[in-house]
Amino acid sequence: MSGLTTYPTVRKATFYEKLVDSKVRCTLCERKCEIGLNVKGFCKTRANIDGELYTLVYGDLSAIESRPIEIKPFFHYWPGSTALTFSTWSCNLNCDWCQNFHLSKLEPQPAKAIYYSPEKIVETAIYHKDTGLCASFQEPTLLSEWAIPLFRLAKERGIKYCCYVSNGYMTLDVLKTLYEAGMDGLKIDIKGNEEDYGKYCGGANVEKIWRNAREAKQLGLHIEIVNLVVRDVNDDDETLQWVIAEHLKEVGAETPLHFTRYFPAYKFDKPPTKIDTLEKAYEMAKKAGVLYPYVGNVVGHKYENTYCHNCGEKLIQRYEYHVINYKITDDKKCPKCATPIPITGEYLRKRE
Ligand code: SF4
Repeated sequence: MSGLTTYPTVRKATFYEKLVDSKVRCTLCERKCEIGLNVKGFCKTRANIDGELYTLVYGDLSAIESRPIEIKPFFHYWPGSTALTFSTWSCNLNCDWCQNFHLSKLEPQPAKAIYYSPEKIVETAIYHKDTGLCASFQEPTLLSEWAIPLFRLAKERGIKYCCYVSNGYMTLDVLKTLYEAGMDGLKIDIKGNEEDYGKYCGGANVEKIWRNAREAKQLGLHIEIVNLVVRDVNDDDETLQWVIAEHLKEVGAETPLHFTRYFPAYKFDKPPTKIDTLEKAYEMAKKAGVLYPYVGNVVGHKYENTYCHNCGEKLIQRYEYHVINYKITDDKKCPKCATPIPITGEYLRKRE
């Protein structure tokens, strides 16, 4: 395995501790794998080489593309903008229905990888007139050693925002380091309750995910929560009520909560989520006090729009990931009743 260190995408990891007998503990995510000599961690992107932990995905990108921010979905964060969006390989969870399994189920191959420097990414974003940077498609936590200098450089060069579209399972140390480097937006996917994570996603301590959402909010990051509602997994009233209650408790009523539609993928062949179920989840969230619930992955649905929670005025009309009409005032209020509307950043008419 020591031959791997000659490749440019293989670098010493930042987040780990040494243990006895040349073992190491990776502290990048809450799985905290204990990794023996010449062995990889659960996600296969971290390897113990000669008693030191290495990342195998430093600047190894599986995709890079300019994408609308609404597609993440982020609905209250730099609306109308595009982000240069990128990903690497593999994942620290293992969800049976992964919608991006063509990236998340593949291990990195350093011998074939092309190294992208942070400078190259920032130059590309500036060239394409992207407003921000977004690590997405698979779990961005795995790119963190590379994303930290990237986000620092991006902010120095005038890029407006840097965000992760994440399962939220990084350690608190990683979250805080990313924030200090310039990450200011975080979308967290909630896949159900602890039992659902155990049965379908390779196991995770869901309390740590909600803790990260709460801590990120307290740090001042823009947060949006997504609940992919999967048929016969987490579409029952009890689980939906639990997600809504945790959302209100940990990130508050003003944080957007998206109920998105699942489609069959990877190992899961149950039919797509019923639209009735998503509408029911929306109504339950509204009734419980969530101010900005949404229905996602249902093109043209009325609950893709943003409504004033005070007077009901339609404030942002969307179609898929396009902003069709934007009526929030420049000082971020409802034009009809002057209720303040939480929007991070500015509305950019670039994509109209
Ligand atoms: S990042 Fe990978 S190796 Fe590290 S703790 Fe998480 S799953 Fe394990």
